[in-house]
Amino acid sequence: MPQHSAPSVAPACTWDTTFDVVVIGGGSAGIAVTASLLRRQPSLTIAIVEPRETHDYQPAWTLVGGGLFDVERTRRPMNEVMPDGVTWIRAAVARIEPDENRVRLDNGQTVPYRDLIVAAGLRLAWERIDGLEQALGKDGVTSNYRYDLAPYTWDLVRSMQGGSALFTQPAMPIKCAGAPQKAMYLACDHWRRSGVLDRIDVEFNTAGAVLFGVAAFVPALMKYVMRYRANLAFSSNLVAVDGPGKVAHFDVAGADGVTTRVAKPFDMIHVVPPQVAPDFIRDSALADPAGWCEVDHATLQHPRYPNVFALGDVCSVPNAKTAAAARKQAVVVAENLLAMRAGRLMPRRYDGYGACPLTVEKGKVVLAEFGYGGKLLPTFPLDPTQPSTLAWLLKAKLLPWFYWNGMLKAREWFTKTSV
Ligand code: FAD
Repeated sequence: MPQHSAPSVAPACTWDTTFDVVVIGGGSAGIAVTASLLRRQPSLTIAIVEPRETHDYQPAWTLVGGGLFDVERTRRPMNEVMPDGVTWIRAAVARIEPDENRVRLDNGQTVPYRDLIVAAGLRLAWERIDGLEQALGKDGVTSNYRYDLAPYTWDLVRSMQGGSALFTQPAMPIKCAGAPQKAMYLACDHWRRSGVLDRIDVEFNTAGAVLFGVAAFVPALMKYVMRYRANLAFSSNLVAVDGPGKVAHFDVAGADGVTTRVAKPFDMIHVVPPQVAPDFIRDSALADPAGWCEVDHATLQHPRYPNVFALGDVCSVPNAKTAAAARKQAVVVAENLLAMRAGRLMPRRYDGYGACPLTVEKGKVVLAEFGYGGKLLPTFPLDPTQPSTLAWLLKAKLLPWFYWNGMLKAREWFTKTSV
């Protein structure tokens, strides 16, 4: 019988029944894939293990940092996004025991499963930059990568009248690879409109060697870099922040391979932290050598444990870690997992789709949509490499609505990705 009851919050007990599917993580990927599974097969018994009380729409934090979105609209109670019919286990997974088909929780309980979906996201490794954790949120040190700090970015931007503004990007992979530079463009656009840009030295420090990983989008971005007269510092990796002293320290790799420690004073600094696989994934039998949950890049099935799938930021596919990617992956995992359960061939192939709407100015976005190998995969018949007002309306107005009412509710528009 189909189960269409409201989500139930699990009581503290020992789990002696085996769920059809256990999903680790109630973020963008975990909720989307659960909704997609239940839409196809409402009778499945599914438990989502998720410790947080709230669910965030992180893609809008860039807009919050630019003063263009209310941060409170990016957060909703977790029970509002849990699909009807699931069991929400309000705990964290401490360990995965894939040979026993069970996960062990941080409260000591174990949860048995028939199939497992790993959607635990990634870990922001703030501690890998000396002094950063203490410095954040004061003395001009901020990051759009935290709900509570994105509004502080906007406070700094709107109060800045002159001086030095640094923006940083760590080594890949990170979620939303464009977000570090989006923060810079929206800040510069505000300073340009308010007539203070001439008095501000803007510098983008990236640990990488290029401005953006897909070359087709770089010319349009470079026009904005020049318009805002921003200095680009490549191979420049933030390693320490002295908040009260207002100095940031970078390891800068020279062409000769020699790395030099360089100190740069700032009046404001927007930091994007290094990003790593969650420890309990890295330490598990599911991890690839880099620590991510290993999957076949097309089917999203684990290569050694066929009853395990993964999607979202935690999985090992070499694509852009974005909610847009998770939206497409959710359908691939839902259909392939159900086919596997029914003893059929898996019908779906993920093409590496991810999207990064680059907010180059208020009212204009370069909508970078691409798949494996940097192949351009535009959803709309527009030149994807040029900034457009339509893409801005999509990013600022339509996508937030669609996230809550479409992606998290298994309304799977524009999701055909089979190759
Ligand atoms: P998350 O949404 O982070 O969810 C992971 C969940 O797993 C969390 O709820 C967490 O509590 C849970 N979890 C972690 N550990 C455990 C555990 N041990 N046990 C149980 N549960 C656990 N994407 C776009 O598509 N477009 C954009 O423009 C964009 N811009 C961005 C801008 C910023 C500033 C940021 C921060 C992100 C942006 N993203 C963007 C990226 C997007 O938000 C992520 O790629 C997306 O949220 C990934 O979904 P996920 O479910 O894999 O991870």
